[in-house]
Amino acid sequence: MESKARRLEKIDQNVLWHPFTQMRDYGRIPPLIIEEGKGSYVKDIYGRWYLDGVSSLWVNVHGHRKKEVDQAIVRQIGKIAHSTLLGISNVPAIELAEQLMKIAPRGLAKVFYSDNGSTAVEVALKMAFQFWKQSSKKDPKKKKFIALTNGYHGDTIGSVSVGGIDLFHGTYKPLLFPTFRVASPYCYRCSLRRAYPSCRVECLNLLEKTMKKHHAEVAALILEPMVQGAGGMIVFPKGYLKEARFLCNKYHILMIADEVATGFGRTGKMFACEHEKVSPDLMAISKGISAGYLPLAATLTTEGIYQAFLGEAQELKTFYHGHSYTGNPLACCAALASLELFKQERILEALPSKIQFLKRELRRFYQILVVGDIRQKGLMVGIELVADRKKKTPFPMEAKVGLKIVLEARKRGVIIRPLGDVMVLMPPLSITKEELKRLTQVVFDSTEAVLS
Ligand SMILES: *Cc1c(COP(=O)(O)O)cnc(C)c1O
Repeated sequence: MESKARRLEKIDQNVLWHPFTQMRDYGRIPPLIIEEGKGSYVKDIYGRWYLDGVSSLWVNVHGHRKKEVDQAIVRQIGKIAHSTLLGISNVPAIELAEQLMKIAPRGLAKVFYSDNGSTAVEVALKMAFQFWKQSSKKDPKKKKFIALTNGYHGDTIGSVSVGGIDLFHGTYKPLLFPTFRVASPYCYRCSLRRAYPSCRVECLNLLEKTMKKHHAEVAALILEPMVQGAGGMIVFPKGYLKEARFLCNKYHILMIADEVATGFGRTGKMFACEHEKVSPDLMAISKGISAGYLPLAATLTTEGIYQAFLGEAQELKTFYHGHSYTGNPLACCAALASLELFKQERILEALPSKIQFLKRELRRFYQILVVGDIRQKGLMVGIELVADRKKKTPFPMEAKVGLKIVLEARKRGVIIRPLGDVMVLMPPLSITKEELKRLTQVVFDSTEAVLS
């Protein structure tokens, strides 16, 4: 008789279409099907355990099967699984909104729920656009957005329109609305060929130039504060974010902070905006919000923006946007339990020593000849591999360097998922130093095994 495991593999092959996955490659590599998790580890259907080096794609925070979160969801399911927020409300959605307001950057006063990061960004874009149409500062010419190259904001058409990764977004160009793009502060591959800090963050001039020229038609600047995640874990030089905020004020442009990846402690602070004491006008959050348990997102905004949407129904100022699962009580409960854990277990206070430890562990990666750059902000890490260190030449795509390293690491009991040739480490905040040591060791060994 065919084993259950073999049966699952076959069905997976035959029926499932995996996201961001070349299915032809997928059919050629040994399958990995996860059945269980505990702490920083996940177990496959053959009973093998793996260290989860990317927090189940950047969402898990306190480890898998965290008792407090499990129980919160069970308690809530004994009451109700879902009830709409369209015109009525529910208890966990209210309580979570209250808690989010306590931790959000100053000035943010309203919570609009949705269920994934892309959508939280769509909501922010639509709010910014509609704000200029109907606020007392009416300026309906302000319809466009400024975004950074290498930026990633999700996969829906609006969020792709402000995306800046050609590999992901190029194909869809004819579908997208036009956006002004500014070179990102990618120091390792500086578009101005300068070096930090002697450059004094000259790339900000590029941003100001675009604002100066186009501000009359720009509704908002959108960026990922401090770290461009999917673009390759590109860490901003100090001062960039703060100055970008200043320029937004100067040119009457709203700032949308996409904290979907950086939020909830990943960079060492609750939100990345805190590193430079920046308050955005709109902020998208998701991924870590529900500790990696259930789909949930929110767009936070200011009292001022909210006010522009108030009026008599016939004035048509309503924000006509909402999703079936907006403010789902189970997801909100998971998020509430997670925020409680941040307090109870003093998660943020425990981070600096883990971050320092990780930093030390990463240093020796430069021993590997193909390591071009190591970037780290908090527990977000990108190790950029290059075919030639001096010339910084990337590997040809067909070399499938990333995939090969993933498979080597898997053999050694670690799950990672790179971005192109950038090896990514983004473990749960609950990871221990011993686990961090093992994670970096395995990635080091796997890289060496493939490339030297
Ligand atoms: C993952 C991500 C998104 C999209 O979130 P989804 O939940 O995958 O739609 C948006 N912005 C950033 C910065 C992200 O990392």
